[in-house]
Amino acid sequence: MLAFHSDQHEPVLPPGHRFPMAKYRLLRERVAAALPRVRLQPSPACDEADLMRVHEAGYVAAVTQGTLDAAHQREIGFPWSASLVERSRRSVGGTVAALRHAVKAGEGVAVNLAGGTHHASRSQGSGFCVFNDVAVAAEVALQAGWARRVAVIDLDVHQGNGTAAIFTGDERVFTLSLHGERNFPFRKVPGCLDVGLPDGCDGPAYLLALDEALQALSQSHRLRAFDLVFYLAGADPHEGDRLGHLRLSAQAMRLRDERVMRLAESWQSPLVMCMAGGYGRDLDAMLAVQLASVGEALSSWQRRRLADLTAPTSADLP
Ligand SMILES: [Zn+2]
Repeated sequence: MLAFHSDQHEPVLPPGHRFPMAKYRLLRERVAAALPRVRLQPSPACDEADLMRVHEAGYVAAVTQGTLDAAHQREIGFPWSASLVERSRRSVGGTVAALRHAVKAGEGVAVNLAGGTHHASRSQGSGFCVFNDVAVAAEVALQAGWARRVAVIDLDVHQGNGTAAIFTGDERVFTLSLHGERNFPFRKVPGCLDVGLPDGCDGPAYLLALDEALQALSQSHRLRAFDLVFYLAGADPHEGDRLGHLRLSAQAMRLRDERVMRLAESWQSPLVMCMAGGYGRDLDAMLAVQLASVGEALSSWQRRRLADLTAPTSADLP
């Protein structure tokens, strides 16, 4: 299985900044050490034409040319720098590259070890998100004819407001978000299916809500099939997260990932996973959750290989 990384383009943040930028490099190192069957590749930079499939040209220009005003930089939460632009472009490029491999190269599953920047809307960034990688990749797939209907399964603890806004009224994309109801963003943008969870929600309650949501998604699939799935595997519903306010154990997080993987497998739809948020008080515990998510994606990739090997091919037929 392929996983794309962009951590060599770490933007320089002011001392004491609350975003744990080192997590991307640490995750790549852990994947390399623990999951040798994952092939790591650097993410290419997304070009401006692809960014402009979902973002307004003026916004893309303001980011790339460094003319974003102070209020917009504050809304994003990172000060502008050339390295931030490069990293943001590669974070999107990683999801687009994972898409290519999952769909075009027939891999079935591929991962971006960054991405999931779901608070970015057409005309602005927000909440540590500059560009919306999943929205860009979904448009690339739809416009290239690689997919006709896309499911975005967003299990980051924060609502996927940017993605919902970008695809409002767009029949080609179903946006599902399970999130903390009282958490950021405080003004949610309705997606196709939003499940707001109370603070303190634990694993069993979460998995029950997830099962219901995935059942609703399956009903929609039966009406019109999803031939591509994006999965935002945010680590921030974990009980050790500083920002999440939910109480899922590492085991519940693993079960969450497995449910999504199995659903996409049952549809025989390619799946692209990106990491989205994760702000663990204990960075090691957060990285273990993310590593387990990559492990679940790898297991899904392997099950799909096995199914391909055992399925009768046209050559076997009389
Ligand atoms: Zn989040």
